[in-house]
Amino acid sequence: MFLQKTIRKDVEVHGIGLHSGKPATLRFSPAPANTGVYFIRNDLPGRPHLKVHNDFVSATSYATTLSCPEFSVSTVEHCLSTLSALRVDNLFIELDGPEIPICDGSAKDFLLAFQKCGVMELDEPRKYFYITEPITLVEGDKTAQVVPYHGLKLSVGIDFPHPSIGKQNLEIDINDFSFAHEIAPARTFGFLKEVQTLRNQGLALGGSLQNALVLDESQVLNAEGLRFKDEFVRHKVLDALGDLVTLGHPLMGHLTLYKAGHDLMQKFVRKILQSESTKLVELGADLSEAQKLKSI
Ligand SMILES: [Zn+2]
Repeated sequence: MFLQKTIRKDVEVHGIGLHSGKPATLRFSPAPANTGVYFIRNDLPGRPHLKVHNDFVSATSYATTLSCPEFSVSTVEHCLSTLSALRVDNLFIELDGPEIPICDGSAKDFLLAFQKCGVMELDEPRKYFYITEPITLVEGDKTAQVVPYHGLKLSVGIDFPHPSIGKQNLEIDINDFSFAHEIAPARTFGFLKEVQTLRNQGLALGGSLQNALVLDESQVLNAEGLRFKDEFVRHKVLDALGDLVTLGHPLMGHLTLYKAGHDLMQKFVRKILQSESTKLVELGADLSEAQKLKSI
């Protein structure tokens, strides 16, 4: 049996908000077993809270946004990807304003925060979503599929008609080590002309070469270049891990994603939640309980 996890103590991440360009602080705080993951706005009267779940996803263009009547929070996927990889089940994510710090556009600072405070087990078994039959979602040339697997594996493909990106594919088993070394440092990316459109709408005012890879028509504009030669597909893995947290429980499965952005991912999360082949189970180390479910 695997036990649920939270963090050992409070830890803060500081930065600026991508859209406002203003200082933003996030505090991760331990939460009791069976809580799940919540955003809390400390600066609003009554400290309203918002559960991280597909039911509360309100927008999926450019980033995943969660909303409740009192507030919305956008670009949640980078900090959530770390929870997904480290299998942190219960957490309060406290904000002092409307935005999460964008940091360097990767999950590096969020991972560092978790490494600083430490992760601990709680005295309750973890429930996983275990897939007994393949679940597939196809939309045009975009695909998302999950098949039964003893762990969490992602096979992700992208194809951008840009000389610096093109076709990139990555298959990776997700664990603390692989996430820290292969995925967490991969930065978000954007195209110069899109950045200009966003700025004309008063968005992405904090966006810069310090927190994203930016490409013009022919090349990457960041002077330091890429952290990995396939940094783009690695960031897509990071984003997908973040979106998976909106399932509400960790997933056991092998996901294959092709050209899957936040919109397709959230539709896929909904499909997983509604599928009859999705079982919420406490798993033994040998997954024998889940194996039995196959014959039901
Ligand atoms: Zn991203």
